[in-house]
Amino acid sequence: MIKYKLICKDCNNIFDSWFSNSTDYEKLKKKKYLNCHICDSQKIEKTLMAPNVLNSSDFKNKDIDKIKEIKSKLREFKKFIKNNFKYVGENFAYEARSIHYDPKKKKKAIYGKASFKEIEDLKQEGINTEEFPWIDDKEN
Ligand SMILES: [Zn+2]
Repeated sequence: MIKYKLICKDCNNIFDSWFSNSTDYEKLKKKKYLNCHICDSQKIEKTLMAPNVLNSSDFKNKDIDKIKEIKSKLREFKKFIKNNFKYVGENFAYEARSIHYDPKKKKKAIYGKASFKEIEDLKQEGINTEEFPWIDDKEN
């Protein structure tokens, strides 16, 4: 969205108006959809003040697409983890150690919750651990 300060050439009324982009302003002006709220004149011009740009629509859409793409990748990854790993909840660090240190215990892939400190400790002990953001399924 872009905000322009517009001026009416007939009565000098200055008012703010929002447009989705600068070409939108030109289109509306050509179609004579722009008119003064006070005298109804269509001699409306942009004032020379710099437009107040909240965010360029192009940039924002690109951003949203990128975020959506990343989120859908994370969702895929989450699904993969759920299907192939065993959930151990809060006991992640304990389970990871017992698998690592107990040679009789069958090696298995697990996932669960751990603090950054626990993950650091596990890594230092040579226990292969990966962190990744756990995305909420309800989020878009
Ligand atoms: Zn006017």
